[in-house]
Amino acid sequence: MAQKTFHFAKERKKIYELAYNLRWSYDCPTQQFFAKLSPRVWDRSNHNPISALSEISEEELRSRLMNHDLHAELNGCYESLQSYLKTVHIPVPSFKHFDKHPVAYFSAEIGIHESLPIYSGGLGILSGDHTKSASDIGLNFVGVTLFYRQGYFVQRINSEGSQLEEYNQHDYRSLPITPVTDEGGNLVKVQVQIGRSSVSVAAYKAVVGRSVLYLLETNLPENESHYRDLTARVYGGDSTTRISQEIILGIGGAKFLKEVELEPAVYHMNEGHSAFLTLELLHEQLLLGKSLGRAVEEVKKKCVFTTHTPVAAGHDRFTQDLINFSLSGFVSALGISLDEFMKFGRVNPNDKAETFCMTVLALKMSRAANAVSELNGKISRQMWTGLYPGKKAEQVPIGHITNGIHCLTWLSTEARALYEREVGPNWLNKLGRQTDWTSAVGKISDDELWALRYALRRRLIEFVRERMRRQQVRFGNSSDWVEKTLSADALTIGFSRRFATYKRAPLLFTDLQRAAELLGDSKRPVQIIFSGKAHPRDDAGKAFIQQVIRLSRDPRFTGKVAFLEDYDMGVARQLVAGSDVWLNNPRRPLEASGTSGEKVIMNGGLNCSVMDGWWREAYNGKNGFSIGEDKDSLVSVEEQDKIDSSNLYEVIENKVVPTFYDRDASGLPLKWIKMIKESLKTIAPVYNTTRMVKEYAQKYYIQK
Ligand SMILES: *Cc1c(COP(=O)(O)O)cnc(C)c1O
Repeated sequence: MAQKTFHFAKERKKIYELAYNLRWSYDCPTQQFFAKLSPRVWDRSNHNPISALSEISEEELRSRLMNHDLHAELNGCYESLQSYLKTVHIPVPSFKHFDKHPVAYFSAEIGIHESLPIYSGGLGILSGDHTKSASDIGLNFVGVTLFYRQGYFVQRINSEGSQLEEYNQHDYRSLPITPVTDEGGNLVKVQVQIGRSSVSVAAYKAVVGRSVLYLLETNLPENESHYRDLTARVYGGDSTTRISQEIILGIGGAKFLKEVELEPAVYHMNEGHSAFLTLELLHEQLLLGKSLGRAVEEVKKKCVFTTHTPVAAGHDRFTQDLINFSLSGFVSALGISLDEFMKFGRVNPNDKAETFCMTVLALKMSRAANAVSELNGKISRQMWTGLYPGKKAEQVPIGHITNGIHCLTWLSTEARALYEREVGPNWLNKLGRQTDWTSAVGKISDDELWALRYALRRRLIEFVRERMRRQQVRFGNSSDWVEKTLSADALTIGFSRRFATYKRAPLLFTDLQRAAELLGDSKRPVQIIFSGKAHPRDDAGKAFIQQVIRLSRDPRFTGKVAFLEDYDMGVARQLVAGSDVWLNNPRRPLEASGTSGEKVIMNGGLNCSVMDGWWREAYNGKNGFSIGEDKDSLVSVEEQDKIDSSNLYEVIENKVVPTFYDRDASGLPLKWIKMIKESLKTIAPVYNTTRMVKEYAQKYYIQK
């Protein structure tokens, strides 16, 4: 074949432009292009294009691009990025308002992709999905978080079934981020006061479509070594580390945006970790000569706050001693006494016994606040009634916006291809218009949908086997048996998320006999795949992991229960694509919203969940399964667990399994497929971050 000549330097530049815009994290074709450049490194580096590129020599790259198809793919991806950056499909006129003054979004973790491990769980994934959708809909958006050099930990399971935590050092040069420098090439830095020291903070920039993230860090030669490590790990260390990280995020972040000459129209605090930013803004107002009261009013005009935590003990609190130790310099710069400072973080300002609560600070310093689902809103209003003397719980000004997910991030290639075929190339726009989408889904063929389910389930099973094989090799065991584990035809239940105990991972195994009968039915086989990390200091969560792993090795359950190690966004994508049923059984009302179940919808999975968080809003009796009823529990925790496990068995035994195995003459489970379509029609257009970010913009970002 005749080869077109090409300008290598130009093509190479395009590749790097693609790699440094994390839009690839939600664009399958670009990911496939990088995978082809170096399949081995792509896999080994957890799908990191910068690593993949670093292992290919110029010569090799040149010769790869001589391949006409690959060269054409590059140009296709490149043009697709350019057109993405230029056009907003359905522009919202009021977003123009932000063009000069962006929305600044602060979050302690932001999960964009598994290769950038600066997240630990749902809060981070939500932040990442928010960032991506803001870019999609053309909302000028800047995110601020920390650069955790060692990320969250890599989870290994040892042969006893215990979780081991490994930390890898990440070098920014092997990640799709760049240091923020001035015109002279010097790092842009700001100083924050922590204790008696002035600590330098620099930042990396990550570009996600049109959105920009600043990842702050303190690993700089001029900082003393214990300050250099402050930003090393996600939620690492004790409360002194915690408050220092929050000073860097909030105060450092606000200063950094100013340093790069951004003047945000609104500061959105996602959880209370970043709430010190309000005090930095207060400091600026005070320097302008405003009275404390006026300064607070000015800050409030610019800040909005999202709370996620439905239990009092879950909110960050710092003692007066720690505040004094870490922030005394900042307090005196504000020109107020320590006691006056403490009042910003107390429900009852005059109660000297009260610690400093970051959520209280955020609520006091915001013009608007919200929770992340309807029920979470109600719980939050009850929890914070004390902050609003004279108001009843229902009058507390905390609203709600139910969380969503970023569709293209969680959609499998196979499902995407199906929508392109069956709905048309503009399927994603149709998804944005309920009536168009409903009629489009109605026309998808049952055969195609069922073929998709098989393909995705099978891919998941192969993925699990491959991971298990590697694990066995590590243990020095034979891995032959792995071939026989799990089945591509069996009803596959997925359960993966952080192993926090309220999520009750082993609930299905409350009655072992009953679980054995359920999973051991040879005519109607059922299997369950678990994955998730427990926080390094959560011993009860770790015990749950061990319990699940023991079950997977129990003769009654071998080949039917699997635990996939090292849960991350990549593992999550496999699980949400391949699972037929997504199980979610938290202790209500502790799941503020939950989002993992929203990721299965477009892949044709069905939810089976306790009536908590987003699910009690989305469930309509026909689009998935409910565990128990939509009502508050009035009994003890032990009693609640018993009732919920019994409801769980009931729904799996009497509804899920019979519907899945009810087949017509050609082997299709027509009722099941009908439920998938109902779920696609009713859930997909609503529980996504396009809807969610628009709601934030309209209700909270744009000042009325
Ligand atoms: C979506 C996601 C979560 C959130 O799961 P929930 O079940 O909503 O708590 C956590 N971790 C990862 C890696 C995810 O992708």
